[in-house]
Amino acid sequence: MNEIIRNTQSAATSTSLDPQDWSAFRALAHRMLDEAIDGIANVRARPVWQPIPDQVRAAIKSEVPREASDLADVYREFAEHVAPYATGNVHPGFMGWVHGGGTAVGMLADMLAAGLNANLGGRDHMPIEVERQIVAWMRDLFAFPDSASGIFVTGTSMANLMAVLVARTAALGTLARQYGVGNDGALLTAYTSRAAHGCVSRAMDIAGLGTDALRKIDVDADHRVDVAALRAQIAVDREVGFKPFLVVASAGTVDIGAIDDLKAIAALCREEGIWFHVDGAFGALAILSPELAPQLDGIELADSIALDFHKWGQVPYDAGFLLVRDGEQHRQAFAQPAAYLSREARGLAAGAVWPCDLGPDLSRGFRALKTWFTLKTFGTDRLGAVIARSCALAKYLEARVLAEPRLELLSPVNLNIVCFRYRAGDAVNREIVADVQESGLAAPSSTTLDGKLAIRAAIVNHRTEERDIDALVAAVLTFGDRRSGGMIEVEAPPLAAQ
Ligand SMILES: *Cc1c(COP(=O)(O)O)cnc(C)c1O
Repeated sequence: MNEIIRNTQSAATSTSLDPQDWSAFRALAHRMLDEAIDGIANVRARPVWQPIPDQVRAAIKSEVPREASDLADVYREFAEHVAPYATGNVHPGFMGWVHGGGTAVGMLADMLAAGLNANLGGRDHMPIEVERQIVAWMRDLFAFPDSASGIFVTGTSMANLMAVLVARTAALGTLARQYGVGNDGALLTAYTSRAAHGCVSRAMDIAGLGTDALRKIDVDADHRVDVAALRAQIAVDREVGFKPFLVVASAGTVDIGAIDDLKAIAALCREEGIWFHVDGAFGALAILSPELAPQLDGIELADSIALDFHKWGQVPYDAGFLLVRDGEQHRQAFAQPAAYLSREARGLAAGAVWPCDLGPDLSRGFRALKTWFTLKTFGTDRLGAVIARSCALAKYLEARVLAEPRLELLSPVNLNIVCFRYRAGDAVNREIVADVQESGLAAPSSTTLDGKLAIRAAIVNHRTEERDIDALVAAVLTFGDRRSGGMIEVEAPPLAAQ
């Protein structure tokens, strides 16, 4: 071997980040995997969540790590200081916010995706075909045409923002991408309900249309948008010269799980020539349950749907998704010519349309793989049954609340979310929520309904059972009795150990 080649080779070896001892690496990797599996298999033995001790928070702070560390030491730090203090949404007692539980299958798929290190911005490779397969499945489920397009994104916040941008470009024409939204853009108005998620308003802000251009229409007692009021507001706006361009309906409001009358809104949008977007962050996947799907009637008429696989779909974070009926309008909102992104008829640069033509990201990870594994491994029927079961558990919690004189139901139970409270004031209920969270026995969250603080239980995790609902009720009653009994000092109870 000549000198130059030998030198080049040793230089290459010394910069490689691969393990020097593959068998030691393999042994440690197997231990990590075993412990990660144990963590999920034995999740009930741990508190749902626990406060982070100051010394743990401090332990992870350090200077920039210029020197190498042993992988085993870094892993030990993770196992001691990070893993035990996660959000808790893997635990069946987690009911705060709408968080999915994840699965061991999803974890493995994410590991495999990281090994491939695929970049799904574009080019011709099978990982993109996996993403396209999921797009095709979503088209099928929501009865969208073959020309519909879809793309994985971080979450529904991003998917809603992209829907606003697609609708904006459809309304103003593609030249607005060059000239800016201008005077025409200043006249655009969008519509959603008071119960819609805050990210809809943020999307209007980021899209340069302003939050004032979003009309928040009143809701009925069940938190469904008042369609007559929506129609009236559109008429008023047209009369004074505004250009109504978008309605964002909710399929599962974040507060109480209300589903707007999608059919009526679809008809109104068609009549008015307005883009009809559905925020189906968690609720859209109720399409997988034959019992629940009829509640989504009309979703198949939407121009676009945003949803999260990481909520009811149980796919590990993050896995948001946007489906757009007219794939060409979707592309026109984002596609951009660039020499370094030129497309070819053959070779690695073939295979257009690329995902980078359908959203703001160029480099993108392989979110589709954990979703593909999840949908195939469990089958959509079983995932639908998980979704129906969490609604049945919400009904069970509703019944427990109605049967308990110390508790009060604060909103109708539409899907999987129950809002209730201990019969006492806001301050006491706020303390109860924190007490229950800190006890590690359960993790509800809170929201405000009609000016009252509500304890909110969103049942999303496939591991949740009746006993977890019972544990939540027992904890709320215990802390409620203590708090309303005037006892300020509440001893921390033993952590959930069963
Ligand atoms: C969770 C949620 C969102 C936001 O989705 P992310 O995935 O957190 O970005 C939007 N709308 C509704 C109704 C939600 O439940």
